[in-house]
Amino acid sequence: MVEKLSMCNSGLTENNQMKRTEQLAKLHETTIWDVIIIGGGASGLGVALDSASRSYKTILVEAVDFAKGTSSRSTKLAHGGVRYLEQFNISLVREALKERGFMLKNAGHLVKNQSFVIPVYNRWSGYFYTIGLKFYDLLAGNSSFGKSEFLSKEKTIKLLPTVKQEKLKGGIIYHDGQFDDARLAINLAQTAVEKGACVLNYTKVTQLIKDKENKICGVEIKDMETGEKHKLKGNAIINATGVFTNTILNLDNPEHEKSIVPSQGIHLVFDKSFLPGENALMIPKTNDGRVLFIVPWHDKIIVGTTDTLIEKPSLEPKALETEIDFILETAQRFLTKKPKRSDILSVFSGLRPLAAPKSKGQNTKEISRSHQIIVSASGLISIIGGKWTTYRKIAEDAINKAIETHHLPKTKCETENISVHGNKITNDSDRENHLYVYGSDIPEILKLQQNNPELKEKLHPNYPYTLAEVVWAIRNEMARTVEDILARRLRLLFLDAKAAIECSKKVSVLLAKELNKDAVWEQNQIAEFKKTAEGYLL
Ligand SMILES: Cc1cc2nc3c(=O)[nH]c(=O)nc-3n(C[C@H](O)[C@H](O)[C@H](O)COP(=O)(O)OP(=O)(O)OC[C@H]3O[C@@H](n4cnc5c(N)ncnc54)[C@H](O)[C@@H]3O)c2cc1C
Repeated sequence: MVEKLSMCNSGLTENNQMKRTEQLAKLHETTIWDVIIIGGGASGLGVALDSASRSYKTILVEAVDFAKGTSSRSTKLAHGGVRYLEQFNISLVREALKERGFMLKNAGHLVKNQSFVIPVYNRWSGYFYTIGLKFYDLLAGNSSFGKSEFLSKEKTIKLLPTVKQEKLKGGIIYHDGQFDDARLAINLAQTAVEKGACVLNYTKVTQLIKDKENKICGVEIKDMETGEKHKLKGNAIINATGVFTNTILNLDNPEHEKSIVPSQGIHLVFDKSFLPGENALMIPKTNDGRVLFIVPWHDKIIVGTTDTLIEKPSLEPKALETEIDFILETAQRFLTKKPKRSDILSVFSGLRPLAAPKSKGQNTKEISRSHQIIVSASGLISIIGGKWTTYRKIAEDAINKAIETHHLPKTKCETENISVHGNKITNDSDRENHLYVYGSDIPEILKLQQNNPELKEKLHPNYPYTLAEVVWAIRNEMARTVEDILARRLRLLFLDAKAAIECSKKVSVLLAKELNKDAVWEQNQIAEFKKTAEGYLL
């Protein structure tokens, strides 16, 4: 049956290149797409990979850059969610733990086993969390990342050298996954292209096209770089726009009820000296009943998060003063080296696309993180809610729904066993070299440096990134702007916003050269980046 579908053409070209011009050229090679995906975050990219690997003619369009939205702003945990266990959402935890295992298997260069220690200041809570985490281990079954265990006070202090010691009774260690969210998104885009999908960033859906029966049969897209518009015809149209889901649902039906509410979460980034070592600290119940994580990430620590209902979605949500104060105060209560406002290297905010609450008084913390796939009367398929960790399952469910409702030839989902671009078994010693995130692409980057020794130059004196990674991102990862590089290909904006601003000129010069742009474009890029990056500084 699959043979009946004309196989989508080329994957990545020579040297693993994913080029926007080549993706644009594909627009004219297909008259009717089997699947059109709107949105290039975790959900949309997962759907593109699932669809293309089942041999459907697949196109994904992203209005800005891959993972520009929520998918670059998560806590970066591939986890079942200890918190959801407390809410007795067993099926979500079990599903996410299984998916965590697939993430580690298929993207080993980006996903790692992370140990978390919960400090215990009260014996009863110690018993409570030990039992809860044993159950968490049990739910993980074969995909366990390691057993949880109770720790003595001395061992807890050894693993968390800066934890508050007054009244400390001991701790509990458990294991979950940690990953680089935006880099996984880029690698998913590359994998989807390798499987035959057409994947475009800076391409926005501006209209939905309907037939005489009011069924969706295509979309109008706008190339955000040139302003050029195209009409795409398609069978199944999938709305994977996260917190912008309502906007697309409104294009379909202006009377549509809100399906999503955005809930903001922020993170503060600090120097690693505030929590040295490899272990993360987890506070299961803050003063107002939230969970707080202090997690080592790319040689810094990230501290978060919050859960604040927001009226209107935006691509650059701003942290509220109350959120910053809450995280600072909580971190100060649990750490002996107390982080201050002036220690913050970067503050980033993201919006969770939560299913709209059923009742008015429902708290955002209580709204399930499980995903739903809804089909509108027009045939538009929308993804509601979900987690990064479950992106693969969300995608499988969305394509199965497309098969069921749009009569695509039946095929089996293969993504449990598809390696993501770059996949490589990576251990702790490999991670001492910052290039580890490139996995199987590392030799190519080294080759780039060998052939062009000037590309060995560092971007910033305090960080290991070199010009080679910038050129790599432009040539192979469809980076188009300074922000694409410093926020999502390298993660410097999220790690140290001031340093990111300081290297924006070097990045802009390379971009202008590689993309054949003039000096005015180069200057505008620096100015635009600086404006965005200032939102990450306090
Ligand atoms: C603070 C915070 C912490 C989190 N931590 C974790 C965690 O540790 N682990 C975990 O598993 N999950 C976590 N999550 C959840 C997870 O990040 C999200 O569920 C996931 O990233 C959502 O992905 P998405 O693709 O649905 O949305 P998005 O990533 O927002 O993608 C939607 C995309 O659609 C694009 N778009 C919008 N309109 C259009 C249009 N008209 N045309 C084309 N494109 C369009 C946008 O530009 C955007 O890039 C966290 C979320 C938040 C907010």
